[in-house]
Amino acid sequence: MKLKGLPETGLEGKRVLVRVDFNVPLRDGAVSDDTRIRAHLDTIRRLREAGARISLISHLGRPKGKVSPEFSLRPVAYRLAELTGWDVGFVDECMGPLVAGAVAEARPGSILVLENVRFHPEEEKNDPSFAKALAVPFDAFVMDAFSAAHRAHASTAGITAFLPSYAGILLCREVEILGQVRDHPKRPFILILGGAKVSDKIGVIGHLLEKVDTLVIGGGMAFTFLKAQGGNVGRSLVEQDRIGFAENLLAEAASRNIEVLLPEDIVAGDSPDSSGPIEIVPSKAIPEHLMGLDIGPKAAEAFSRAIAGASTVLWNGPMGVFENPCFAEGTRRIAKSLEEATSLGCQTVVGGGDTAAAVGSMGFADKVSHVSTGGGASLEFFEGLPLPGIQPFVLD
Ligand code: ADP
Ligand code: MG
Repeated sequence: MKLKGLPETGLEGKRVLVRVDFNVPLRDGAVSDDTRIRAHLDTIRRLREAGARISLISHLGRPKGKVSPEFSLRPVAYRLAELTGWDVGFVDECMGPLVAGAVAEARPGSILVLENVRFHPEEEKNDPSFAKALAVPFDAFVMDAFSAAHRAHASTAGITAFLPSYAGILLCREVEILGQVRDHPKRPFILILGGAKVSDKIGVIGHLLEKVDTLVIGGGMAFTFLKAQGGNVGRSLVEQDRIGFAENLLAEAASRNIEVLLPEDIVAGDSPDSSGPIEIVPSKAIPEHLMGLDIGPKAAEAFSRAIAGASTVLWNGPMGVFENPCFAEGTRRIAKSLEEATSLGCQTVVGGGDTAAAVGSMGFADKVSHVSTGGGASLEFFEGLPLPGIQPFVLD
């Protein structure tokens, strides 16, 4: 899938509004993780070198349409300047005369960070007159916030009706790589799913099942499948109302010769935040008083073997409660297997907010082919849904 990207020429002196996702975590009034800022640097650098007068617009947190100082983007502007050494200004508004004035005075190659667009309730309503007001001070719009592209908001979608609009470098890269995996995966193709809930991933399974050779299921969602197979899963997470779905899926996979791998053993404990004792137990004989919180070593071994035979791996959802070091090993083993597969030429793609966080914190972010910046957006993309922040740019 290809998008209409930035123009090669003609940006010099142009007033360009760029929708980024600067929804970063803050601690004590400062940015505590700047991954999301760094994700947009290619786009900002390109526009800067082309001599555009750049303004960056984003949401941060959930201020619910009200001005809320704790969700101000000022610390983000500060961090962007610190990170790049570029001169970065900050404007206390995202529209109106304050922005128009600052943009009019800006020099070619300069950067302004505008205040949180969600301070205005019209943003999330995708109000056309608000979108138009956002557009007024500018000559062009660039959409670079893949992680916000599943939302039809004024600053992600509505505004494209009022300005010549282009997809930024990050958005183009995400859609090209994820589109390749979704639409033309090189076989054998393994889909690894985990995380908390089956219900979150049903759409992805539905859309990708006909393309996969092997479906690996770990994390909390595995227990609904193990239960569907008649296993005793103790106090593990089970979605009773999805057991039927799990049964049907297993039957359908069998009839289509799709291999489904469920964990053979499980690391079980008292609760997600327990620090022990933990036990490794067979996945279908989990003691009544325990819950499954990670895949066991045999499961990790089997999953790793499957990964080693793949040409494409798509991974969404941690294998266990990785936030607790007692239950992080399964997720680490899978990340390590992706690293090995990548070094042998396999295309490995990680999607999902928590999976990306796990892979990042374990030091594997640059050891796989691609870690998507889109959490919910990447899920909707893999469900095959049209994303309102992408549709205006689709070329093929
Ligand atoms: P992503 O954000 O990558 O799509 P999810 O949001 O679906 O992933 O799932 C991530 C959450 O799943 C994590 O917070 C993790 O603790 C939880 N999880 C993983 N395995 C289990 C389990 N066995 N029991 C309960 N929760 C689990
Ligand atoms: Mg999540």
